[in-house]
Amino acid sequence: METNQKAKVGIGYGNNRIECVRKAFAALGGIQQWVKPGHKVLLKPNIMAAQGGAQITHIDTLKGLYLLCKEAGAKEVWVGENSVCGMSPRIQMGIIGYDRALEDIGMKVIFFDEEDWVYRFRGENYCLKDIHIPKSLVDADVWITVPVAKTHEACLTTLGLKNSHGILPDEDKARHHRGRPFGNSSLWEKFVDIYAISKPHLCVTDMFHAMEGQGPAFGDIVEMRLVVASADSVACDATVEALMGFENLECPLTKIAHKRGLGIGDMNQIQVVGENLLQHRRHFKRALWHPDSDRPYYGIRILAGDVCHGGCQMIVRYLIDLSHILFKKMERELGPIYILVGDNPPPPPEKAFILVFGDCAIYSTWHYQYRQRPKLIGPWWKPRKGYIDVQGCVPVQLEWIRSMAHLVEGYDPMVSLGDAVSVVEADQVTFAEGISLEKNPRRWNFDREWARKYAREIQESKPPRYIYAANESIKGQILRKTDPEVDRILREAGVEPE
Ligand code: SF4
Repeated sequence: METNQKAKVGIGYGNNRIECVRKAFAALGGIQQWVKPGHKVLLKPNIMAAQGGAQITHIDTLKGLYLLCKEAGAKEVWVGENSVCGMSPRIQMGIIGYDRALEDIGMKVIFFDEEDWVYRFRGENYCLKDIHIPKSLVDADVWITVPVAKTHEACLTTLGLKNSHGILPDEDKARHHRGRPFGNSSLWEKFVDIYAISKPHLCVTDMFHAMEGQGPAFGDIVEMRLVVASADSVACDATVEALMGFENLECPLTKIAHKRGLGIGDMNQIQVVGENLLQHRRHFKRALWHPDSDRPYYGIRILAGDVCHGGCQMIVRYLIDLSHILFKKMERELGPIYILVGDNPPPPPEKAFILVFGDCAIYSTWHYQYRQRPKLIGPWWKPRKGYIDVQGCVPVQLEWIRSMAHLVEGYDPMVSLGDAVSVVEADQVTFAEGISLEKNPRRWNFDREWARKYAREIQESKPPRYIYAANESIKGQILRKTDPEVDRILREAGVEPE
C-alpha cells in the first residue's frame, strides 16, 4: 500500500544520452503512460547560454525523448525555448546551430517570445499569483521539462522546478527577483509559484554531463552518464539532488514545493527504479558567490552592500568567473576595478576606477566622494570619467556589456566584446524593471502594462541586420575554444566549425 503512494523516479545509466533516456523510461514502465497516439508533445530544454556546452540541455537528450514519443505514436514533437535576459532563443540557438539540428531530427522549434502569451492566475500562490505562459504550452497535450543538472548560486541547484522560470516572458521573470539569501526571500517561493501554475507532465533531467562549482554558467563538468525522469518534478529534483550529494530537502525549491504539497521531495516517500542511487551518488562542489572565497579572480574588487542573490549578485558573480578573460590584462595597465553593488556598499578608495552596478548601488552612493570629484582615467588619447553607472534593476545584458565595452575601450582585453554588444543590441528586449533610470522613474512602483509597451517598442524598432556577421565571428572566436562538443553539434547541424 505504502509503495503505491510513493513517487516513482527512473534513473537510466548508459554510454550515451539516448540510451539513458530509454533506460529511465523502461524503468518507469514506458512513456506511453503519458504520451498517447496523436499527441502533440512539447519539450522545454534549458538553453541559457549561447556558447553551448554543459550549461545547456544536450540535443541527444531531446533526440532520445523524440524517438520515444514517436514510438508511442505522438503526432508532433515540439521544442520550445524562451529569451534569456532579453537575448532571444532564435539568436541563442542560431549561434550554435541548435535549432537546425533539432529540425533535422524532425522536431519543430518554437521560440516562445515570438508567439502569443496566455494569462494564468492562481490565488493560493505565495507571491507570483498571475503569469503569462506560452500558447504552445497550452496547445500541447503533454509538456516535458528537460533541464540539465547544475549547481546554482541562488538556489543551490537548477533543475526541473527552476527550469519553469524559462517559460515566462521577461517582464514576468523580472518580478519578485529581489530575494536576499538571509532574509525572507521571495525568489525561491516565486520559482515554486511558477511551477504550481503550470506543472509539466514529466520532468527528464539530463545528467549525462552535470555541472558542479560555479554553475549555472561557469562550473566544471562532472560525468555522471545518467538521465533521471519522473512524472513528479519535485521527486525528480530531490533524486537528482541526492545524486549530487545534497542532503534531502536541503535545496530550497524542493523543500518549499514539498512543504506546499506540490510534489514529493522526501526521499523516504520516493521509489527510485532503474539504478541504485547510492552507487552513483557524488559530492558536487557548490556554487560560491562570496568574493572572499579562495577561488582566484583577477582585476576586480567587489564592494557589496545588501544585494539580491537573484539579481545583481548573480551577474556580478559572472563577472568574477569571467575575470580571467575580461580583466587580467587590464589590471596590469589600469589597476583593479572596484565594483560597487547592492544597497549601501562600502565606499571605494579615492583613486579607484569604479563600476557602479545596478540601481541600488547608484542611488545609495550618490553622496559618496567618487561622485563629487570624478577623476579622468584611461589612455591619454581617450580619457574618461573614473566611474561608470550600470543602470537597471537588474541591469540587462545590453547595459552591462555596453558598460564593460566602454570600460575596456583602448585596452582590448577581449577580442569579441564588440561582437557581443552587437548580438545583444540586435535583439534586446528590456526587462520590465531593467529599464534604465531615466526611462523608468517609477522603478519601485512597477507598472507592468507600461513596461510591456516599452518592451514592444524596442522590439519593433527593427534591430540592425549586421548581427548575423557578428554571430559568425563569435562562432569562430569563442565557441571552438569553449567546448569541443560544440564542434560536434555544429557538424551534426551541417555547419563546419571554423
Ligand atoms: S538593483 Fe540589483 S541589488 Fe538592487 S534590487 Fe535591483 S537587482 Fe537587486
